[in-house]
Amino acid sequence: ETEAVESQTDVLIIGAGPSGLMAAYWMAVCGVRARIIDKKGTKVFTGQADGLRPRTLELFDSMGFQHRVIHEGHVAVEANFWVPDENGKLTRQGPHCSPKINESNHYNMLLNQGRIERFVIDTIHKYSDLEVERGVIAESFEYDETLEDNPDAYPITVKLRTLSDEEANPAHLTTNGSGPPTAFTNGMGRGSLLPDDWEELIQKSRARQAKTEIVKAKYIIGCDGAHSWTRKQVNIPLEGSMTEHIWGVIDVVPLTNFPDIRRLGTITHSSGTILVIPRERRMVRLYVPVQIVDASTNGRFDRSTITLEMIKARVQAIMSPFTFDFQVCDWWTAYQVGQRVAPTFNKGTRIFLAGDAVHTHSPKVGLGMNMSMQDGFNIGWKVAMVAVGAANPAILNTYTAERHPLAEMLLEFDRLWSGEFTETSTNGTTKADKADRMVDVVESFMDFADGLKAYYPNSSLVWKVSEEEGPAAARNLIPGERIPPMKLRNQAEGNSKWTTRLFESDGPFRIIILAGDVRVEAQQERVAALARILEGEDKTKVSPLCRYMSIPGRESLIEIVTIHSAPWEEVEFFDFPEILRPFDPVMGWGYENIWCDASATWDPYCQGKGYEKWGVDRLRGAMLVLRPDQYIGWSGELEEVDDMTAYLDGVLIKVPTPEL
Ligand code: FAD
Repeated sequence: ETEAVESQTDVLIIGAGPSGLMAAYWMAVCGVRARIIDKKGTKVFTGQADGLRPRTLELFDSMGFQHRVIHEGHVAVEANFWVPDENGKLTRQGPHCSPKINESNHYNMLLNQGRIERFVIDTIHKYSDLEVERGVIAESFEYDETLEDNPDAYPITVKLRTLSDEEANPAHLTTNGSGPPTAFTNGMGRGSLLPDDWEELIQKSRARQAKTEIVKAKYIIGCDGAHSWTRKQVNIPLEGSMTEHIWGVIDVVPLTNFPDIRRLGTITHSSGTILVIPRERRMVRLYVPVQIVDASTNGRFDRSTITLEMIKARVQAIMSPFTFDFQVCDWWTAYQVGQRVAPTFNKGTRIFLAGDAVHTHSPKVGLGMNMSMQDGFNIGWKVAMVAVGAANPAILNTYTAERHPLAEMLLEFDRLWSGEFTETSTNGTTKADKADRMVDVVESFMDFADGLKAYYPNSSLVWKVSEEEGPAAARNLIPGERIPPMKLRNQAEGNSKWTTRLFESDGPFRIIILAGDVRVEAQQERVAALARILEGEDKTKVSPLCRYMSIPGRESLIEIVTIHSAPWEEVEFFDFPEILRPFDPVMGWGYENIWCDASATWDPYCQGKGYEKWGVDRLRGAMLVLRPDQYIGWSGELEEVDDMTAYLDGVLIKVPTPEL
């Protein structure tokens, strides 16, 4: 074998699926010395996940590419459940499950995972030249625990191996031996039914004396999917079980007389239930229960027995008497679902796991990609900021605490929802019962599934307001939750913008000053007093603006955004203290720092109702700290700068000056 070169990197990400790419995004934003590898020679182009929930779309908005999803994706807003009536005739029940338009400015959308990965990769390139190293597999792992607490040490050693073209691009199965149509791309070669393939790949590659490299890293993030290699290196199990049902999934352009084929919904017949998901480019995805694993095979299942023809026949049987056929099939696969979750998503403060590596479930809840991306986003910004020396390593402990309970909820949702599909008979249940039950399951998990509620617990990053402290200044802005989106008007420009875009995911913690009614003199004085502290006028205190280390390319890791509640015509941009609208000798005034909760006659979404929705007094206002991921970390009154600074002191690293 050729001698391995040795190198160092601060963060090594294993796997460039949805979770790995989101983590990599933060490495790019924060200028971290990082690498991301993937054993596959190419990204995903067709198939796999397609459902995008509102919270994920909000994140995309904050990353700056949601417009691309809107242009290409398909919106799915209501669900119709088709069930047999008393005479066995399929009838529509619905529409149900309308989106909560007061909760998010985004609806559920459908778009191929390959496009989403493209958008994230393009966005990474806006910040850095970090590239996914494809056809590279991680092969061995060592961890020196004694170095864990030394921030300058590289306790992780990983051997990487470059795969050959054939190894990195395994031929897809395009024939299934069961007659036409067979020449359609399928996911069986990479399917969730396959056992781990990395061991075989490593053996083959060894025999060929492939190029290897020893990488020393400070942090590793395992985003390497359901058969995670990284998880196995650190002996974290996946707990749960495989289900006995085998599912088929097809992405086709349907030829049918079923009237709701372009609407989200389900069709239940005596032989099972299928899920219908309308997609971009006239495509429709269908999830179909194909068979139950025979107990005599010990839960094992021969995937070659499933063919595209077989899945089509199952759809035709369930949809009958409506017709169903297709000429175009973009992708198809079959899978057996494991409902499993890892007991922890980290080992110490250097090794983290995200996405399918720590939770697997059926794709029918449309959450695989969403949960994985949100995991990657969550651990991404935390590791990135710690790695560049801007944040306290203690924040890394919040990752499992914040994400693990959500994975548990995901599995519970999946158990209930999948059960509705595998029930083989509708005997004894009326059509209304069946539809009502499905509506109940979806609606009871809707806030969670759409990501509208995150339930992040108290921690160094989330300071909950206890009831003993009296009513919160911002009743509906709850630490641990995301800031509910609102459309605001820019004071200087009059333009309207959603907060999901305004609070960009470009690094900073944001102090949001809800300045209240600044026409009133007493309120003006409160804001002026706050501004004086932020300017650092009191020499015994250091302004939060220059108190902390920052990330490369950014002068301060703290940004101030002011949102007042007075009519915009009655105050002027220049009325606000200068620290709130900072001046740059080259770029001029910070017009984007002052906003107004006012209506715009030409924009029906901009109604001037932000303060009401957020539960903030229009006169007195409030103050918040938003984390870089738009979750609220701290909230209080305009006077509570000391308490806010204590919060930030626990999270960020102070600039080392003698005064501090
Ligand atoms: P993955 O997307 O699995 O990415 C892991 C990456 O790690 C892969 O690119 C892999 O090549 C790489 N990797 C693994 N081991 C190594 C190693 N040792 N070294 C280097 N790289 C490695 N979800 C839905 O919501 N709807 C669906 O219809 C759906 N269908 C699916 C069909 C299939 C065949 C599969 C596999 C998944 C499907 N999913 C679906 C799930 C969805 O794709 C996942 O939830 C989501 O992709 C998880 O993202 P991830 O980044 O955590 O993992």
